[in-house]
Amino acid sequence: MKKAILKMVSVTAALATALVAQTGSFRVSADETTAVYSQASAGVLKDNSDYKEELADLNSQYAALQKEQDAINANINKAKSEKEKQLAIKKDLDNQIYLTRQQIQLLEDKITLLNNNISEKELEIVDKQADIDDNYTLFKKRVRAMYMSDESSTVGLILGADSFYDLLTRAEVLNRIAEHDRDLIERLQSDKADIEEAKAEIEGDKADLESSVSELDGLKSTLSSQLAQTQEEIQSIAALEEQFLKDKTKNQQEMAAVQADIDDIYAQLESMGDYVGGEFLWPLPGYSNITSYYGWRFNNSDFHTGIDISGSSVYGKSIVAANAGKVVFVQRNYTPGKGYGIYLIIDHGGGMSTLYGHTSEILVDVGDYVTRGETVAKVGSTGWSTGPHLHFEIRVNGKHSNPLEYL
Ligand SMILES: [Zn+2]
Repeated sequence: MKKAILKMVSVTAALATALVAQTGSFRVSADETTAVYSQASAGVLKDNSDYKEELADLNSQYAALQKEQDAINANINKAKSEKEKQLAIKKDLDNQIYLTRQQIQLLEDKITLLNNNISEKELEIVDKQADIDDNYTLFKKRVRAMYMSDESSTVGLILGADSFYDLLTRAEVLNRIAEHDRDLIERLQSDKADIEEAKAEIEGDKADLESSVSELDGLKSTLSSQLAQTQEEIQSIAALEEQFLKDKTKNQQEMAAVQADIDDIYAQLESMGDYVGGEFLWPLPGYSNITSYYGWRFNNSDFHTGIDISGSSVYGKSIVAANAGKVVFVQRNYTPGKGYGIYLIIDHGGGMSTLYGHTSEILVDVGDYVTRGETVAKVGSTGWSTGPHLHFEIRVNGKHSNPLEYL
């Protein structure tokens, strides 16, 4: 019947469809429509490209660390004899521990990130569902109104137009309201799609989370067995000597390069004022065993610029500042098997400084003022080392000297 009336006023088929769809719209107040509608527009899914980027970054960092671990393992497996294997394990153990710790840190960051994204997405789903409920209620109200509207008002509306232009004007007003109906349906559809997308992302995150957590558990047990192994290892000077003499020329060149680097560092440091005074404190409390003294060693082929202190279960023990001073250099990145590994330098004024090498961890930063006896690092085996120990140096105006003359 509506179609017949519409044909009478000769509007186009498109306009006719629109008008039919609109007839009931007047039954819902414009205020109500606007209120619910603007609420719904607020629920657009958050753009989470930052999250995806961060996640990809963590994954690639993790993969890089895994590659390093694999290289170390390949190195250990390459060793022919049992003795060589033992040496390789000893040398690389601390590096493995270091890498394992970094991997654990990355996994923990990733788990936090995944958990945050999951709860964020769950909240968004709740919001979206509320939008859908509101819009669906509104939509049902409008449909009901449309079918309940009496024909006479529709007919009256159309026939009451003074002219075709008047009708078009009314149609435009109608059309705008009708757009709300269409938009409501589109909104419902897109909200539903958003929810499905968020749910899929949560599913993916949860699977990733589960495998990350089990990977983390595995790494933690690996770390504790690595640590247990290291706790019992003591810096072996015989092993170090064997390693050094095996490729003497190359090692001498490497040592010279390390010393040149150290000289460069000292050349750039400016000692603060006068000497802080007092005597130097033993830097590794509870451990008095010196495994390598200051001076020539390995058949006069290597000059040892400090003293090595080691002992049973020394790994991870506290290294203290030998005197008050300012932390002037901290090296946290290192090349496995080379140089001092993770180390720091403290300036005590008057040109006096101390260096703490092969640590597993440094607890202070450049610019920090430390007191005499304050813990600054933990014993490790980083760099050129065959087991956990502290390499301790005292330098005067950048020149190494025998620490035992000061301790
Ligand atoms: Zn040393």
